[in-house]
Amino acid sequence: MDKKDFVERARSIVKPFRVQNGDRFHLKDYDPGETLSLDPADKSRAKEALALGVEMLAHYQDLLYAQDRWGLLLIFQAMDAAGKDGTIKHVMSGVNPQGCQVTSFKAPSSVELDHDFLWRSNNALPERGRIGIFNRSYYEETLVVRVHPEMLARQTLPPDRLTKDIWKERFRDIRNYEEYLSNNGIIVRKFFLNVSKKEQRKRFLARLDRPEKNWKFSANDIKERAFWDDYMEAYTETIRHTSSCHAPWYVVPADNKWFTRMAVAAAIIETLDSLHLHYPEVSQQARAQLDAARAVLEKE
Ligand code: ATP
Ligand code: MG
Repeated sequence: MDKKDFVERARSIVKPFRVQNGDRFHLKDYDPGETLSLDPADKSRAKEALALGVEMLAHYQDLLYAQDRWGLLLIFQAMDAAGKDGTIKHVMSGVNPQGCQVTSFKAPSSVELDHDFLWRSNNALPERGRIGIFNRSYYEETLVVRVHPEMLARQTLPPDRLTKDIWKERFRDIRNYEEYLSNNGIIVRKFFLNVSKKEQRKRFLARLDRPEKNWKFSANDIKERAFWDDYMEAYTETIRHTSSCHAPWYVVPADNKWFTRMAVAAAIIETLDSLHLHYPEVSQQARAQLDAARAVLEKE
C-alpha cells in the first residue's frame, strides 16, 4: 500500500471517533467495544497494520524534527486500566527517543498547588520539532477535581474566584490555551481511551490474579471506580466544551487493546500528514558547502 492510500485508510479508521464540535456529544453514542469492520478474532491483521503505522510514524517524526517548525502535543486521559501506558508504549515504539518526551501528571505537589492550574503543563510543553505526550494532563482539573470538589478547596483560590461558574471558566481557559498553542505551531490532539466498566473490572481482577501484574494495582483505583457515573458525566461535559477543530478529542474504543493502539496510531498519522511536513530545502550557499566537503573527503 502506498503512503497516500495508507493515510487515507488511517483517516477512515479514526473519523468515527474524532470530535471537533462537542455541541451534540453524547458518550452513549460511542461503544467501548467497537472494532469497526475488523474481526476481533483476527488480531494479527490489526497488529500488522499497527506495525506499518509505527514505521510511518517514525518517518513523520523524522520530518517533524528536521523541519523544526511544529510541535505536537498528545494528551491521554482515561479511567484506570484503560490502557494509557500500553498505548503510549506501543504506538511510540518506533520513534526516535530524542524527538519525544512523555510527562506523567500525578496529584499536584504543594508547589504546584501554589500556582495556576496550567503552570505545570506549560513547563512540559514540547519544543518545535518534538512530540510531547501527556499521560494525564490539565484535564484532570475538570475530571478528578470536579468529581472530588474537596480538591478544588485545596487550591486555595481567592474566594471570589471560586464562583458557581468555575467549570465554565475552566473550559473557556482550556479552549483559549489550546487555541493559543495552535496559533504558535504547537498542535494539540486529545485522546479519551473509552473503556467500559465491565472491562475495567476484568482488568483489575487480572491485576490481582497475576503476580507479574500485582504492582499495577492500587487500592485507590477501586475507590475511584465507585465514582464511575460521576466520571462519565465529567468526561461528557469536558469533551462537549473543549472539542474544537484545532484541538479535537478522539474518543477511542478501549475494550480491545489492539484496536485502541491502531486507532491512536491512525489519529497521529492523520494529524502529522495534515501538516504537509517536508525536509528543509538546502540553500545554494549550503549546497556549495556540501559540494566542497565532498571534494575534501574524496581527495583523502
Ligand atoms: P496511571 O493510573 O495513569 O497509570 P499511575 O497509577 O502511575 O497512573 P497514580 O498515582 O495512580 O499514577 O495516578 C495519578 C493520580 O493523580 C490519579 O489519581 C489522578 O487523578 C491524580 N491527578 C493527576 N492530576 C491531578 C490534578 N490536577 N488534581 C488532582 N489529582 C490529579
Ligand atoms: Mg493509577
